[in-house]
Amino acid sequence: MYEDIKEQIADVCHRMWDKGWVAANDGNVTVKVGEGLFLATRTGISKHDITPAHIGLIDGEFNIIEAPADDWKPSSEAKLHMRCYADRPDVNAVIHAHPPFATGFACAHMSLDDYCMIESVLTIGAVPLTPYGTPSTYEVCDAVAPYLQEHDVFLLENHGALSVGCDLMTAYFRMETLEQQAHISLIARLLGGAVDIRREDIDKLISLRPNYGITGRHPGYKKFPKKG
Ligand SMILES: [Zn+2]
Repeated sequence: MYEDIKEQIADVCHRMWDKGWVAANDGNVTVKVGEGLFLATRTGISKHDITPAHIGLIDGEFNIIEAPADDWKPSSEAKLHMRCYADRPDVNAVIHAHPPFATGFACAHMSLDDYCMIESVLTIGAVPLTPYGTPSTYEVCDAVAPYLQEHDVFLLENHGALSVGCDLMTAYFRMETLEQQAHISLIARLLGGAVDIRREDIDKLISLRPNYGITGRHPGYKKFPKKG
């Protein structure tokens, strides 16, 4: 069952590996396929090697409903994904990866609130840095939860990035936009500093979201307090 979606999940995993967003067995993807039913990537496999045969079905409590192999287990980070689905009924797909530019900001304990590039202002807005949590524990869920209602993309402190969407490609493209924005911001900062778009033009861009059919949440114009 769900063969088309399993193919799409495998394709997204391959794109993540090709882009260098994951090393070894890093990263995980889930998709909601029904009330309390989720397809999940297995634990302990390179995203380069994922096929539909490595994708199983779990429920919201992390119980295995359908395993493609006897030793199949979902990624332990699926707990964090389940929290996103529980708190955001509009979310149908969640992606976690370690894209290097975005993760660089997360490791430097810097949120990403440059409003310097039209596309990212329009689609993701300011990206919060969520507090540190031990991987695979509910600490990470609790760290991300306060930001879930306003944002679709998150930097996980000293860890990586998370994106959510109404479907898998939306979540995937948000991660692409985040990584490109982090790359561009880094270059702009090296060149002397990113220059924000004027506030009234930022507000205009945000108000255009419905015209472009952009789904999800946007924080509006928001700047995070600087650390230190
Ligand atoms: Zn991770």
